[in-house]
Amino acid sequence: MAIWFETDLCLIGGGWQRAAGGETLPLVNPSDGTEVCRIARGGAADIEAAVTAAQTARAGDWGRMTAVERGRILSRLGRIVTERVDDLAALEAMDVGKPLTQARADAVALARYCEFYGGAADKVMGETIPYLDGYTVYTLREPHGVTGHIVPWNYPMQIIGRSVGAALAMGNACVLKPAEEACLTALAFAHLAQEAGLPDGALNVVPGLGAEAGAALSGHPGVQHVSFTGSVATGALVQAAAARNVVPVTLELGGKSPQVVFEDADIDAALPFLVNAGIQNAGQTCSASSRILVQRGVYDQVRDRMAGAYAGLTVGPAAEDLRLGPLISARQKEIVAGFLSRGADLSVAAQGVVVDHAPEAGAYVTPTLFADVAADHVLARDEIFGPVQVMIPFETEEEAVRIANGTDYGLVAGVWTRDGARQMRLAKALHSGQVFINNYGAGGGVELPFGGIGKSGHGREKGFEALYGFSSLKTVAAYHA
Ligand code: NAD
Repeated sequence: MAIWFETDLCLIGGGWQRAAGGETLPLVNPSDGTEVCRIARGGAADIEAAVTAAQTARAGDWGRMTAVERGRILSRLGRIVTERVDDLAALEAMDVGKPLTQARADAVALARYCEFYGGAADKVMGETIPYLDGYTVYTLREPHGVTGHIVPWNYPMQIIGRSVGAALAMGNACVLKPAEEACLTALAFAHLAQEAGLPDGALNVVPGLGAEAGAALSGHPGVQHVSFTGSVATGALVQAAAARNVVPVTLELGGKSPQVVFEDADIDAALPFLVNAGIQNAGQTCSASSRILVQRGVYDQVRDRMAGAYAGLTVGPAAEDLRLGPLISARQKEIVAGFLSRGADLSVAAQGVVVDHAPEAGAYVTPTLFADVAADHVLARDEIFGPVQVMIPFETEEEAVRIANGTDYGLVAGVWTRDGARQMRLAKALHSGQVFINNYGAGGGVELPFGGIGKSGHGREKGFEALYGFSSLKTVAAYHA
């Protein structure tokens, strides 16, 4: 599919322009290692211009718009995205290496975020607070002003939808810095937003390197809120930069999410979730379920059935729409290979297959399931961000909780049991931003607040909760006695 827009430009104040430094970066197709196109290498000067444009939008048409009008634009954008789902999916497949089915699901989710936040924009309300005699007290939810959005490469469309969608619904003006590895759907989204009638400067897009455009955005004194999804190390840098301006940040930093399978679980129902949640998007998913904890009595059965499913996992070019595509880059492949070599002492329960004709220069990794892994092994503790799962046996509920809570992360957890009381106990005991009982991920859940504790980050995106995160609360106390 032809790319229908110029790729090497930034969107600033409604105009598409070259980066101030005039430089560009290559965008590589991870399925075959070829250069797809060039993107702008935005830097501090472009971020400066984008923040100024956002401030101008806030002071102008965009800032004056009612919540109903903002909601209508977002809803219209949702309809336009829906019409372009196949085009967006084709871009994402080429850029990120996602099999087309997954890329399509991401585009559908982007439309759904626009639809959800379009509908929610005029439903964010304050409250009246009973207070002392002679007072009327109420609260107002106000936009922060200019919000910065630093997005990674693994789910560009979904992450843009959940963060930019919610920020725009609340009336913020956004500066978006997509990942240097995956820019195309961010640029396409910005074009579609213009088509939907989003006023100039309400959304600005500055592609570029993290250390340049990203650092300039997270530390810019004109930005009142920063939303970041990515690695723990970069998240800490973003938080430190924002702290110098004393502005809030939302950090979503991935995890080491467990699924806990008890002996009384419906194993047939669990099986597809146990495997898919680990290998979806080749394991490059913040909420990937990379640890499978299984009670002894059903451990062998679950291991063998998961192994059977792994044998059917094929990996190949995104356009072939197999179960897995390549990783995002040769660099990510190296990171995952490093982890696999540190698992050389472990027992491999099963592996998938990279198709023979997969191009040499593609970033392909064989999906691998390790069995009988000690809970403190590096592969059971660190986020790998590749198609690698570890199985850990346990005896008792208490032990399961201890192992599940035994990493620095806490993003998502799954529990498989028919015992209602145990479901409730585990839901409370697990250190995690989300707990799924007898499912995992609830189909993506645009409506469901999402975010972590511990090194998984803080703040919540998605659902109605995000609208609170992208606004600040003002209390008005009027004395009239
Ligand atoms: P990263 O965190 O460095 O990059 C994510 C985003 O941050 C990109 O847009 C990048 O340009 C930007 N960035 C980088 N340095 C920055 C800085 N100093 N200031 C501001 N922004 C900056 O992640 P990566 O290097 O692409 O991937 C490395 C690892 O991060 C992966 O192996 C994986 O473990 C993790 N990761 C997690 C997620 C997630 O969804 N939680 C997404 C991508 C990567």
